[in-house]
Amino acid sequence: EAIEKCKDDGTFPFFSLEFFPPKTEEALFNLHQRIERMSQSLGPLFIDLTWGAGGSTFKESLELSSWIEQYSGCEVMMHLTLTNISLDIIDQALSKAKEAGICNILALRGDPPRGQERWTHSVENFQYARDLVRYIREKHGNYFGICVAGYPEGHTECSDIDTDIANLKSKVDAGADFIITQLFYDVDMFLKFVSKCREIGINCPILPGIMPIQSYQGFHRMVSMCKVSVPQYILDKLEEIKSDDDQVKAFGVEVAVQMCKKLLANGIQGLHFYTLNLERSVTKIIQELKVVKLGREAPWLRPANRNQEWVR
Ligand code: FAD
Repeated sequence: EAIEKCKDDGTFPFFSLEFFPPKTEEALFNLHQRIERMSQSLGPLFIDLTWGAGGSTFKESLELSSWIEQYSGCEVMMHLTLTNISLDIIDQALSKAKEAGICNILALRGDPPRGQERWTHSVENFQYARDLVRYIREKHGNYFGICVAGYPEGHTECSDIDTDIANLKSKVDAGADFIITQLFYDVDMFLKFVSKCREIGINCPILPGIMPIQSYQGFHRMVSMCKVSVPQYILDKLEEIKSDDDQVKAFGVEVAVQMCKKLLANGIQGLHFYTLNLERSVTKIIQELKVVKLGREAPWLRPANRNQEWVR
């Protein structure tokens, strides 16, 4: 029903997919094939690639983003963090992205790299994602489309949600074009977050981050790491079926489909899926929702510069 309404309005819902650079050549080969299949059969509006804390996946994130841009036919966005790396590395990453035709960046502060307790920043007054957004705009003008992260339940370090949303606004005011949120399982909380954003003048697209439940252990690890609240019915059902991986996956699809339907019914036009580099659950969800690629270009997303060569 929600999709029919969107079709009548001419505002088709769309979706995007997040992947991360795998650690082995074999996993990379498999991921290339998976991305080709998913981009051709499903039609995401864009695909984004994570960036390892402290620049640990500098080469891999660039190469894979560039490969996607060249071979998947999709727009691409590369994540970039400012913690525990020098400004020189940030400059190199942005120039290489430009050389590779990558035109969208998810600008993040980042967390401490694995094994380190604290994060550091290399330059005075360069400690929040807002500063990275400002820097990219100052240095590269409007070349890059810039996305930033939002937190429907508030970022873990921020004591109250209103302050966190005000900090989110400062990232948008610094030049961000759109927002992708942290994963969540409580749709009402997300919708309340969007209303609060709108109330204080955040007018750009806010894409909800959906992470389908793929395994009992993985799900619990992720929600405790991100400090995300989970509705009781989900916790209860998972306890009941935790020894059956197939049932957990099927339940994960069911929960995500219900969440997405409710989001679309409440006027949310784009869905962002954290794939965890897996194909089946996200494919099933998208097929069930019948969401489609936008028939037009999204004004807040830069088309890739496909004249560029794949960086090596
Ligand atoms: P910021 O926006 O800088 O916020 C960090 C904290 O500082 C918040 O508590 C905020 O309220 C506060 N703050 C912000 N601005 C100000 C200000 N001006 N004054 C005072 N306080 C302020 N991590 C990775 O390492 N690699 C990735 O690829 C990656 N991808 C992500 C994708 C998404 C969609 C999301 C939601 C997160 C991702 N992360 C990634 C995790 C992210 O790096 C962490 O959540 C990190 O702790 C915060 O990054 P941020 O960009 O949101 O920080």
